[in-house]
Amino acid sequence: MAILDILHFPDPRLRRRAAPLGAVDDALRRMLDDMLETMYAAKGVGLAATQVNIHLRMLVADVSDDRDQPLFLVNPEIIARDGLQESEEGCLSVPGFYEPVTRAEQIRVRALGRDGQPLELETDGLLAVCIQHEIDHLDGKLFVDYLSEIKRQRIRKKLIKSQRAAEPAGVAG
Ligand code: ZN
Repeated sequence: MAILDILHFPDPRLRRRAAPLGAVDDALRRMLDDMLETMYAAKGVGLAATQVNIHLRMLVADVSDDRDQPLFLVNPEIIARDGLQESEEGCLSVPGFYEPVTRAEQIRVRALGRDGQPLELETDGLLAVCIQHEIDHLDGKLFVDYLSEIKRQRIRKKLIKSQRAAEPAGVAG
């Protein structure tokens, strides 16, 4: 397995819409396993393929305390939603920022699992928020899109500044 690089807002590659997958094969399972390892290493509860510059419709998630209940969703689709909940969201692609976002409280999701078999899942609370957040990534959308323009620009500026600071000094071009 390998740890993959996570793209950071405002990288334009985070705006690409991911393509649906025909089937789940071994190469894809390796990508899913790398995504899971990357998510655990970054201490996230979810990661969409878009965030690691893979533009295919798949995501991984684990909201368990012991980090031992990984969920793999390929071609995930929300087929029903109910209620509303507001929670503080963060994102591995928007490091250091947490803001309240309102989403459906309960969702029903249809997808393929890591084994390629179809599955349906009904969930609420943190996992429901996480899946909605990750499916947004696959559509090129970020949680900062739910915030005011002023807040989004403030976050954008701060992240650009910190990315510049992280670049090695003395490199031209
Ligand atoms: Zn995210």
